[in-house]
Amino acid sequence: MSPNIWTLFKYLNFYGFYTHFQFQSRKVMLKLSYRFCWYLERGNRLKGIYTYVTASCDMLALTLGGTNACQPYSRKHTLSSFFVGGPGRYCSRFWFMYEFAVTPAVTQLRRPGVIITEVSPGSLAEELELAPSDRIVRVNGRNVRDYLDFRFQTAGETELTFQVKKTNGETHEIEFDRDEGEDFGLMFEQIVPRQCANECIFCFCKGNPDDARPSLFVRDEDIRLSFLYGNYTTLSSITPDEMNRIIEQRLSPQYVSIHATDLKTRAYLLGVDEKRADISDKLKRLLDADIELHAQVVLCPEINDGLILEKTLRDLAAHYPKVVSTAVVPVALTRYNTDERLTRVTPEFCRRTIKQVEKLQKEFRKTLGVTFAFLGDEIYIKAGAQIPSRRHYGNYPQIEDGVGMVRSFLNAFDKVLNRRDALMPKSVPPAVAGGLTLDQRTHPAAIIPKNQHTKAQDQKPKTLFGTILTGEMFAPILKQQIEKYNAQHGSKLHVLGVPNTYFGGDVAVAGLLSGQDFLAVRGQIKGDFAIIPKHTIKSDEPIFLDGVTFDDLKSQFDVPVYDTDINGLIAILTS
Ligand code: SF4
Repeated sequence: MSPNIWTLFKYLNFYGFYTHFQFQSRKVMLKLSYRFCWYLERGNRLKGIYTYVTASCDMLALTLGGTNACQPYSRKHTLSSFFVGGPGRYCSRFWFMYEFAVTPAVTQLRRPGVIITEVSPGSLAEELELAPSDRIVRVNGRNVRDYLDFRFQTAGETELTFQVKKTNGETHEIEFDRDEGEDFGLMFEQIVPRQCANECIFCFCKGNPDDARPSLFVRDEDIRLSFLYGNYTTLSSITPDEMNRIIEQRLSPQYVSIHATDLKTRAYLLGVDEKRADISDKLKRLLDADIELHAQVVLCPEINDGLILEKTLRDLAAHYPKVVSTAVVPVALTRYNTDERLTRVTPEFCRRTIKQVEKLQKEFRKTLGVTFAFLGDEIYIKAGAQIPSRRHYGNYPQIEDGVGMVRSFLNAFDKVLNRRDALMPKSVPPAVAGGLTLDQRTHPAAIIPKNQHTKAQDQKPKTLFGTILTGEMFAPILKQQIEKYNAQHGSKLHVLGVPNTYFGGDVAVAGLLSGQDFLAVRGQIKGDFAIIPKHTIKSDEPIFLDGVTFDDLKSQFDVPVYDTDINGLIAILTS
């Protein structure tokens, strides 16, 4: 069937049959659909069945997807997502890829409610006979979409009615009272990210190797994750319902990728039309409702730098304090980003940007009392410039975005070096590193049982002699500090900057190192142990970005390997 007829057919199904017959006449609808497929495939039974089955999948998707999101936009995307990757549908794939790029998206078929994953023993939930896999569908008569809804709808309530779907399909109404503030003892499924509807020219998904972890290809644009974890959204594809939700549930602050307030530039960067790129009404609505925003600019040389950057920062600063801060971070291109519209960030570009933004920062400090616009650490490091002082960063509003991390580390390390016992020799067994970090993992396979002693823990403490692996960008800074530490304590710690061969290009941050990158330098390890950055391992599963498992990596090193973050490292050095 040609793509155009196929499209027409789907829209007939969607807007005609589906909305008209709804559920009552689904059989009639499918029968008609089959006859239509048979007719379109010119009486070829097999082709007709194939077309019919594919179309029915669409309808199923609509039926299931519609129950939760209940918006034509979401349904429309569910429809298109079924076709992306479908067999032999390259024409429609591209057609629908375009639709995907401009249509607000919910890619998962969602059933209403939130699924319980754990019930604490002796808790109120256990008393109510709630169990893992039960789905809480309604609380006090209101629909629950996820655990944020659950929290919102139960907050402060002492008289509650839950509607719960059990795994056997039965629905139970549970009415109960609880004491004020009493915890339910429930853990819920994670939020399934809603996907974005942009085609940003610098999108990280385009910079992934094909075999990267599937989760790295998720283009999330989710106001809930923005509120919970500081993930950035562009707001471009945020629906009216989601806007209402931010305001109603006070999901503040929100983290918004602005990139440029010049509309043409923003649309160009996001790969959407200007109408969709224009979020001025949405921003106004959020700011009027006193929702705090943190903004981000991904700086792309020759696109949104220079005068456009200045305009962006000034426009945003005009909304301070509701727009609390803006992070300007450089675009990072892997070797897979081959888009010719993008220019790599050079040291010279970084020096120019620092000079330009420093002027604005001074002005903002004078008029607003805060720096307001912060440059990513990478810009200072690449420029070979000094990292700004502690005062510059205030309360580090954008530290999760790599803004001020180095300053925060240097200050914390200064405290290590200035301790009263600074001149004492250090003798901490390397097992401390594992003890400090592994137990923080959430995946059962990664947790060391409390009563299990490792061989290293039974060893007598000896002088710290090992290698700390990190990204090439941070390595010189860490090396400088560790050398001072070694001089004070007589330890023999080495810092090894690991080249990122997995992503290649400009990627030099520690967090994007893969298992194979570590394996490539295992011959350069000195001492009794190796420490790798904790964030290179997935938080809920001991696996690296390239799928190498932590166990596999450890088995290929001649010395024990421990994962820790900067705080863990500092704790080791000061214990
Ligand atoms: S960069 Fe973010 S907003 Fe842009 S396409 Fe990728 S996931 Fe979507």
